[in-house]
Order: sequence, then structure tokens, then C-alpha cells
Amino acid sequence: MRTAQILNGREIAEKMLARLAKDLEAIQRSGQKLTLATVQIGESKDTVLYSQSIERTFKKVNAGYLPKIYPEKISQSDLQKEILKLNRDPQVSAILVFSPLPAHIQQAALLSTLDVLKDVERVVPPTAAAAVALIEETGAEIMGKEAVVVGRSNTVGRPATMLLLDKRATVTVCHSKTRNLRGHVENADIVIAAAGQPELIKGEWIKPGAIVIDVGENVVNGKLVGDVEFEKAKERAGFISPVPGGVGPLTHVMLIKNLLTLHKLKETAIGNPRAFQ
Ligand code: NAD
Repeated sequence: MRTAQILNGREIAEKMLARLAKDLEAIQRSGQKLTLATVQIGESKDTVLYSQSIERTFKKVNAGYLPKIYPEKISQSDLQKEILKLNRDPQVSAILVFSPLPAHIQQAALLSTLDVLKDVERVVPPTAAAAVALIEETGAEIMGKEAVVVGRSNTVGRPATMLLLDKRATVTVCHSKTRNLRGHVENADIVIAAAGQPELIKGEWIKPGAIVIDVGENVVNGKLVGDVEFEKAKERAGFISPVPGGVGPLTHVMLIKNLLTLHKLKETAIGNPRAFQ
């Protein structure tokens, strides 16, 4: 019986972090420190844990982390003023707004307040980037492959689709109204599962040798479960990412990568003020 190679997100994240740490060190030697400010509204347990885990990753590479916590009832206009302050703050290199936001805050209006050169998620949404980075980690050719992305959200499914298209895969996007999910998955050399439905993708649907990236994080009976039926899928896939320990650990690394990209973009903009007009 064949067994897939498991893509160990924690190990891959450490390797990538070591590379990014060198770039950060070089910037620090020139007297600058890159700092991510986070905008957190309220103190929900999930957000607090998420913030702490990003902070741990940032500390590992000595990147600055500035968590800003605002009361649950803050008004849209006050919050936008706070964002404008972060936009102007020279110590802040990038900004991340945690979601979900309270119902009275309009996300699109809020995010449009962010300086484009500080919006750490606009560079490339980190979860989508993490999923594609895992595919690249296999060393397999992406060009010309049949890829299926399950999920069409703005934060994962759509950007992952664009990234795969950039790498010239043939991409099919499936979603909750897709009629024959199984048929699409059965044809796929690459599957990115981002539906938020526990074990939606059955092991027997996986094409032998396929690369399977599971973005899903579903809590079932107090346990974190992915969107792929992992135990069965790993008997058919060539590579598979587990949940937890696959995509998750890489998302923070992608935030650091984006922080560096924003820094480079800013340097270009300073050197060439018309570059962003
Ligand atoms: P979302 O709810 O915004 O989007 C889910 C998408 O899946 C939708 O486009 C929907 O049409 C599709 N979908 C739902 N049910 C389906 C079905 N039965 N068949 C086919 N498609 C279906 O979710 P999201 O924010 O994109 O997140 C997706 C999953 O990824 C969630 O489990 C989330 O927790 C997880 N996630 C993980 C990370 C990470 O760091 N690992 C980060 C973000 C999201």
C-alpha cells in the first residue's frame, strides 16, 4: 500500500523562517526594525490565541510586533482614526486587522483606510500563499497540472486560484454550488481544500500521486479536523498536508514574507516616488 509523504508545516516553516531572518537581520544592520501592528477589537479567545502565536513567530526572527487592542464597542469612525494613526506612525511597517470584526464595523470601509504600503494581507493573503508554498515545497512541477481549489473565499480560495494560475496550472474552482465535486477532485493532480467542512474530500476521490493541501480548520468534538479525510487520502496521495501542523504554521511565515515585500516596495517608492501613483 502506498503512503503519501506528509508535508510537515512546522519543519518547513522553521526552514523558511531561517531564510527570512537573514533578510530581516540585513535590514536591522542598516538601522531599521520592521514592525507589524495588529488591530484587535475585543478579546475573544480565538483572536487572543492567534495574536499570541503570531507574536511567538515574530519574536523568533526578532521582528517587531505591536498588538493594538480596542474595545468591542469602538465606533467605525474612531477605529478608522486609529488606523490613520498607524498609517502615519513611522515605527509601524505593516498593519494586520484581525477578523471577524464586530457586526457594527464595515470591513470594506475599514480596510480601505489602510495605507496600501502597510496592508500586510493585500500583498498576498497569507493562508493562500502558505498553501501554494507547501505545493512548491514538494518540488513538483505546477505548470500544466490540473488543480482543484475547493472554496471561493476572498481570503483563501480566490487568491490560491490566482497564485496557481500565475504558475500556469489549469485551475478549477469548486464551491458549495458545485454539482460534481467528486468528479473534479478525481481528476486533480493538485487539490487545495478550503471549504471549512470536516472531511468533505473523501480519501477515495484522490487521484493516486496527487498533491493534497488541506487548509480546513474545523473543530469536531473538541479536536481540530481538516477538510480532507486524511487517513484514507494519505493512502492515495503523493504528498499531503495534515491538520494541524500543515498550512497553519506557514501562515505566520507568510506574514513575515509580506512584511519584507512591503519594505522592499516602500524602498522602491521612496527611490521612485512615481512608482505608486
Ligand atoms: P469561507 O466560509 O469564507 O469559505 C468557504 C468556501 O467553501 C465557500 O466558497 C463555499 O462555497 C465553499 N464550500 C462550503 N461548503 C462546501 C461544500 N460542501 N462543497 C464545496 N465547497 C464548499 O471559509 P474560508 O475563510 O475560506 O476558510 C476555509 C477553511 O479554511 C475554514 O475551515 C477555515 O477555518 C480555514 N482557514 C484556515 C487557515 C489556516 O491558517 N490554516 C486560515 C484561514 C482559514
